[in-house]
Amino acid sequence: MKHLRAEFPIFAAHPGLVYLDSAATSQKPQIVIDRMNRYYAEENANVHRGVYELSESATRAFEGSRAVIAAAIHASLEETIFTRGTTEAINLVAHSLGQIVLKPGDEILLTIAEHHSNIVPWQLAADRFGAKVRFIPLNQDRRLDMQEAARMVNSRTKIMAFAHISNVLGIEHPVRELIALAKSVGAATVIDGAQGIAHLPVNVRELDCDFYAFSGHKVFGPTGIGILYGRKSLLDRMPPYMGGGDMIEKVTVNGSTWNILPSKFEAGTPNIAGAVGLGAAFEFLKGLDLGKTLAHDRALGLGLVNELKRHFPKVRLMVEPGPDWIGLVTMSHETIHPHDLAAICDTEQVCIRAGHHCAQPLMELFGLPATARVAPFVYNDENDMDRFVAALHKAEKLFA
Ligand code: PMP
Repeated sequence: MKHLRAEFPIFAAHPGLVYLDSAATSQKPQIVIDRMNRYYAEENANVHRGVYELSESATRAFEGSRAVIAAAIHASLEETIFTRGTTEAINLVAHSLGQIVLKPGDEILLTIAEHHSNIVPWQLAADRFGAKVRFIPLNQDRRLDMQEAARMVNSRTKIMAFAHISNVLGIEHPVRELIALAKSVGAATVIDGAQGIAHLPVNVRELDCDFYAFSGHKVFGPTGIGILYGRKSLLDRMPPYMGGGDMIEKVTVNGSTWNILPSKFEAGTPNIAGAVGLGAAFEFLKGLDLGKTLAHDRALGLGLVNELKRHFPKVRLMVEPGPDWIGLVTMSHETIHPHDLAAICDTEQVCIRAGHHCAQPLMELFGLPATARVAPFVYNDENDMDRFVAALHKAEKLFA
């Protein structure tokens, strides 16, 4: 993937930079940056409003991006809603779907390996509607306990929400089995695709999920923009999440009616430059072979795992790689706190993530307050992994 690295200007701006925190946010290729700059320099106007050519061309750019993204995930335009990111998308679903499906005593089934943004919105909805949040546990091998999942699903289960790929374990959840389980009791399915979208081809039709949420910034796009795919039959029935301009059909002093999809869920002036940038990111993504990039990330991760097992007996891995693993290496160390490790790495220009990764219930299960995470991506190579290993050696010497 060496040829790809040159497309990311951050590496020219910081010679020697080793960026291994792509699960937090990916770096941006020049074409995404250029596209956003071109939008502001040459096309800037508000969308859906103006009758003049500049506004129409901004609208074409904005809606053109929606078309590119919708095609990539096999959704219709009506079902492809721009949000600020995964977090806002899940909050939207929890709020609006909650209103039509949740009653007191109902259950929302999550997994214990969820990001806070796929836990807290459900807790808020559960409080609001008198429902209960339950968590599918993990097996010894830190994969989902699907037998327990089957036992937990029942006629009160109204919503099942789970990550496509865990941001801590780097493991693809068995989403097809989970969806089938939800369907067996008529529960709606919500997939947190924040990690999935960058590593796996996503086909919402084939998955047959009800909702799929992701953030642009994890998949070469800008921050502040993301997508919620929603099944039309549900979106049609759901009340709006936010009120404001663009989402209405008619406003009177006595009340309002709603615009058609997807506008009903896009109140206010959207992040136009972000949407246009995300469209460019998806064009970039189209040029990648996700099978090859996943193999590349897994090979880098596996090389590191083998090195850690061979030479770092004090390192404990959070999960063993398997065919469901994307190359993410999350670890703890007997004597070095993850924040100290990340700080030492930083002195070597190596960026890794340390902390609870917004997954405190999972950390509690591990019995750890924090872990360190190395997330290889398309622009990384063996040299980057070696630089991390050298920084780990340095940290071990310092903390001996
Ligand atoms: N879910 C998962 C699995 C994630 O990795 C993240 C980002 N770390 C999120 C949700 C939240 O994404 P955002 O902060 O972009 O809304």
